[in-house]
Formats: sequence, C-alpha cells, structure tokens
Amino acid sequence: MEELLRQGLTALGLPPESAPDLARYGEMLREKNRVMNLTAIEDPAEIAALHFLDSAALLTLADFRNKRVADVGTGAGFPGLPLRILEPSLSLTLLDAQNKRVEFLKEVCAALGLSDVTCVHARAEEFAADHREGFDLVVSRAVANLRLLAELCLPLVKEGGRFLAMKSVDSDQELAESRHAIETLGGAVETASSYVIPGTEIRHRVIFIKKLRKTDKKYPRTFAKIKKHPL
Ligand code: SAM
Repeated sequence: MEELLRQGLTALGLPPESAPDLARYGEMLREKNRVMNLTAIEDPAEIAALHFLDSAALLTLADFRNKRVADVGTGAGFPGLPLRILEPSLSLTLLDAQNKRVEFLKEVCAALGLSDVTCVHARAEEFAADHREGFDLVVSRAVANLRLLAELCLPLVKEGGRFLAMKSVDSDQELAESRHAIETLGGAVETASSYVIPGTEIRHRVIFIKKLRKTDKKYPRTFAKIKKHPL
C-alpha cells in the first residue's frame, strides 16, 4: 500500500513523505475491520485509492494551511485524517455519531503521534449547539443527501468560511434540490470542481459552498425534523 500511496501522492503533486504514516493507518484500518464494520473496502490497493488518495485530492483543490477544519460523519477518518497527516498545520476535529468509530480514530491518532486531533463522539446537529460558526472549513463525504447535509454542516462554518461536500460527478440534481436549503442556512454554492483519483478512472466532485452570513439560531433542528421536513 505504501508504494501505491507514494505514487498517487506524487501524481497529485503532493509530497510523498507521509506515505508510511498513511500506510500504517491503512493497516490499522484493515486489522480493525476484521472485528468491526469500518469500511466495505478491503483490498489494500482500493483502500489506497478510494479512501486515502480520494481524501488527499482535496488538498489540491483548496488551501487547508492553518485552517480549523471539521469532518462531519468522518467514519473511519475520511477525508479528515489523511488531510491532517498530509497538512500538519491544520487544526482538525473529527466528528461521528458512532462511538466505536471514534475510539478507532483515537487509536490511530495515538499510534501516529497526532496528539492535537480532536475526536468527538456526537451527532453534528447536537455538536453545533456549542461549536456553531467555529470552523474555517467543514468537509464531509458519504454521509447524507446534500439537502440534509447542509443543515448538519453549514451551522458549523464561520462567516467567510466554506463547506466542502464530496460528491459523485452526477450530483447535479442533488445540488439543484439543495440550493434552497443552502441559501436558507446562509450559504451560497460557489463552484464544483472535479478530479480523477490517481491510478483509477474514477472522477469525483467537490461542491464548494461559501458561508455568506450567520446561520439563524433555529438551525440545525433535530435530525428527525431535518429528515421529515428538509429545507
Ligand atoms: N465519511 C466517511 C467516509 O467517507 O468513508 C464515513 C462515511 S459513513 C457511510 C457515514 C458516517 O456518518 C457514519 O460513520 C455515521 O455514523 C456518520 N453520521 C451519520 N449521520 C451523522 C450525524 N448526524 N452526525 C455525525 N455523524 C453522522
């Protein structure tokens, strides 16, 4: 896995020096996946491409240096933890509703000596009560439809900051259906950038949503309400 990561990082124009740390994280992921469900992807080459290089590609699209970053619904740490390993100046909060996943992330951080990563067991809509507008960048991959996800993520973004939603390239309709929610929450769709994961023909897309004004205090609502009456 280390060599594939090294090649992939180089192809992305990123320094390959972090490949050993990423590979160690990948081994821990494979090991833990034998006893609990962390990822459906088991093949080391696929883990390298679909988890690590897919996450790393974000660094080629946005400036993460010295930013406060939250990863909402991070699961086994994607995309947030590879971003922090590759860009040590960012301050990272990893957030997930499943505690066993958060415990795994703490183990990875301890093994890699990442003492300044905050791993939080919480639902995003509850975490927002104490951390609203607290992040320069919020990232999220494979958590929910953008119309719902916007209400989980945008309240956490400071004015002038951005929410980066990782989506498939065929997300035009999803994006169109979420525009009203994004605007209601104080955001505006800025751009959508696509990239190809190195070593594959898979093209993914990142939707950039800029926070133009503070989110009304009535958001986020409970998840039951978000789901029943999406904005
Ligand atoms: N982002 C990771 C990735 O791309 O591999 C994990 C994706 S996994 C399909 C979705 C994760 O989102 C799960 O770990 C789940 O516990 C978490 N999640 C779902 N709703 C959430 C919420 N409201 N707040 C925090 N985490 C949530």
